[in-house]
Amino acid sequence: MLSAYTECPDILIVDDDSTVVIALKKTLEEFGRIRFALNAEQALIMINETPPNLILLDMGLPDINGLDICARLKQNPETTDIPILFITSNIEVGFEEKVFDVGAADYILKPLNPRVVSARVKTHLAYHRAIQLLDKQAHTDSMTSLANRRAFDKQVIIEFKRALRAKHPLTVALIDIDEFKKYNDHFGHIAGDECLKSIAKVLGESVKRPADMAARYGGEEFAFILPHTDTNGARKLLYKLLKTVEQLNLTHAPGATYQAVTVSIGYSTFNPENTSSIEYDPSTIIETADIALYESKQNGRNCLHYNPLALAAPST
Ligand code: GH3
Ligand code: MG
Ligand code: MG
Repeated sequence: MLSAYTECPDILIVDDDSTVVIALKKTLEEFGRIRFALNAEQALIMINETPPNLILLDMGLPDINGLDICARLKQNPETTDIPILFITSNIEVGFEEKVFDVGAADYILKPLNPRVVSARVKTHLAYHRAIQLLDKQAHTDSMTSLANRRAFDKQVIIEFKRALRAKHPLTVALIDIDEFKKYNDHFGHIAGDECLKSIAKVLGESVKRPADMAARYGGEEFAFILPHTDTNGARKLLYKLLKTVEQLNLTHAPGATYQAVTVSIGYSTFNPENTSSIEYDPSTIIETADIALYESKQNGRNCLHYNPLALAAPST
């Protein structure tokens, strides 16, 4: 995912020459918040903690070669989109190819000309901002402002791999509005859309941790990705959600089972500590949660069911 874009971009200068850092800081202050690092190690820690919106990188650092740092940042999905501009006095044959081969956005030659530095930085900050906005739009459901299916599909793979690596539980939940066809048939599609938005708002507000995701899975069906969440933790969260939706007290169609609009929920937990990861992938977890959702529908709706992962495991 891309680092968050703010109106005040975060620019990181990495150079062991403090006179260069001071000159660049003065030139670039008008564009945003300036941070600096005097060596590669310090820079990598800072980038890892808070990814900046742009990096100005000296090619000749004392500890790690600037080209190596750039290549490393480009290989990491968390930092690959940050534009990197090299600062260098090295104009030996082939240097331009090397700079672009490792994925740098551009380079600026020393001695630094403040107007050239400003122009290049301004251009790349604008590109970066445009890419971030497009990326956000491509991953957001326009009706509900929740993450869309594309974002969900990507994120569930990322979180599955993370859960495997860190050996922490991962819960996926599917949430479906009950008898929504009746609602639409009675109140019309425009009212249906408004109802969907109200429920989506409750869903978005019920996941609180930064790594949690509430997504519109399709139509009147939603999905949660809950990393670091075991079955008990998920049950508490999802039960509360069930009650909050009911208490919204959105009047349902006359023929519906409940007077208020409700949801049914199915969920499943992948726990690398006690499940063999070889047999599972993200789609197995989703299929398992879907079976649990079906059980909730069979059991009268407005309820939640858990399905242990083994029940959906491929038969051997
Ligand atoms: P169940 O309790 O079994 O889930 O019944 P249901 O009626 O909710 O399920 P069904 O799949 O039969 O119908 C889903 C309905 O949701 C039909 C469809 O028109 C409606 N729907 C899906 N997306 C939207 C939307 O974006 N806006 C509106 N207004 N309705 C939608
Ligand atoms: Mg439904
Ligand atoms: Mg449905």
